[in-house]
Amino acid sequence: MKLLYVASECAPFVKTGGLADVIGAVPKSLAGIGADVRVMLPAYSALAPLVKIGKSLKTYKDLFGGKARLISVKSEGMDLLLLDAPHLFDRPGSLYIDADGEDWDDNHLRFGALSYVAAEVAQGALKDWQPDLVHAHDWQAGLVPAYLKQSGRAAPPVVMTIHNIAFQGVFPASTLSELKLSKALFTPDGIEYWGKVSFLKAGLALSDKITTVSPSYSNELLTPEFGMGMEGLLKARQGDLSGILNGIDTEVWDPENDPALPASYSSRALKNKAKSKKAVQKRFGLSGSDGPLFCVISRLTTQKGLDLLVECLPGLVGRGGQLAVLGTGDKAFQKTFKDAAEQYSGAVGTIIGYDEALSHLLQGGADAILIPSRFEPCGLTQLYGLRYGTIPVVARTGGLADTVIDANEAALVADCATGLQFNPVTTVMLDVAIGRACTLFDTPNVWQKMMRRAMRHPVGWESSALAYHELYSSLIET
Ligand code: ADP
Repeated sequence: MKLLYVASECAPFVKTGGLADVIGAVPKSLAGIGADVRVMLPAYSALAPLVKIGKSLKTYKDLFGGKARLISVKSEGMDLLLLDAPHLFDRPGSLYIDADGEDWDDNHLRFGALSYVAAEVAQGALKDWQPDLVHAHDWQAGLVPAYLKQSGRAAPPVVMTIHNIAFQGVFPASTLSELKLSKALFTPDGIEYWGKVSFLKAGLALSDKITTVSPSYSNELLTPEFGMGMEGLLKARQGDLSGILNGIDTEVWDPENDPALPASYSSRALKNKAKSKKAVQKRFGLSGSDGPLFCVISRLTTQKGLDLLVECLPGLVGRGGQLAVLGTGDKAFQKTFKDAAEQYSGAVGTIIGYDEALSHLLQGGADAILIPSRFEPCGLTQLYGLRYGTIPVVARTGGLADTVIDANEAALVADCATGLQFNPVTTVMLDVAIGRACTLFDTPNVWQKMMRRAMRHPVGWESSALAYHELYSSLIET
């Protein structure tokens, strides 16, 4: 089975969030069950070393305003197809935004070009490799089925995955011609969205199947609260929509073998986790308290519910807890957490920035990870938490609801709790959950049992990779 993955991020090469982890992990699991997967990515400046050693497969004299090449290269066990288009991708700043935090004003061309070239590859532009199916991820790849449809030629089936419906790739209708899209597609059952072009809508309307990253989120998406304007279309396509839970790369995230931790530990031998806790306390300027150490590793945005957490700090600290925050995002949140670190000096520590190794150390050293998201398609940090015995305290929404077993009375009696959930997502209920976590932490035998269970909870890709494989097979056969 030959599969073309089209995405805007892929760990460990380029990452701003969970999408990268998924694209970096699923192809490897699929390869393990016999699939030949190539991942097409933009060649951002960070990928220049790979472009240099890669092989040029195809050139464009003018791809949406400049010269471009498609480069093939193998790295980290993955087959990559890099779209080298310096006028679109070779620039400073983040993947989607400039140094001032504004979206690049040519994002439609940047990701339109990615989809355009992916569609050409899907229809046989490369001499020796043509995919049986294209898997497009998030709005950045949403135009793939639009270009396929517009060509009028035979094309492989397309699966579209929603990693986060909040990002919809909406641009003025005037971009249609720049994107070389025909007006015939600009209809309510095509790519038109309230008079504009939506890349995500194009993917949802024109792909063969739609998936999202957890079963609960696939249900939530059908409601106005979570569907963010796409619920009508998704309802109409409900028969083609399914939720396949994300997993994690259990080799990259392994407390028994993690170079970011001062000492390894396992569910059988937890003792060394204390060394990571000490290292975290030192790094975040916290006192050497024995109380529960909570952490946050997150984009700092309203989605993540961190404004609720700020209001819970007096309760968290008052109960003898500590908090270490690693994050980057909205300037207001950054300031709030920096101020909190001053106000609760020694009990709250904040590091603003994106630091992969530090995120591993935090997972290793914290006792619990807080995820009070207002919505969460799947969420990965709770899965890393489970794997590292760092008890997830999560809002009961989306993938958080599907992956954490709440330590309620029944679950404790049945010996199956792996974390704590709270709902509704309010300050009061988050405070209650933090209080419950502190009480459980004060009963070390109960807490440690929960840690061990969490660490044994299956969080790898095995079953989800099989589910994707089955979905692809059903489409390829028909
Ligand atoms: P989202 O994709 O919505 O940001 P996820 O929980 O699905 O949320 O994935 C977030 C990913 O980004 C995780 O791998 C998490 O460890 C990582 N991450 C988030 N913020 C940071 C940070 N400041 N430093 C390092 N890693 C981070």
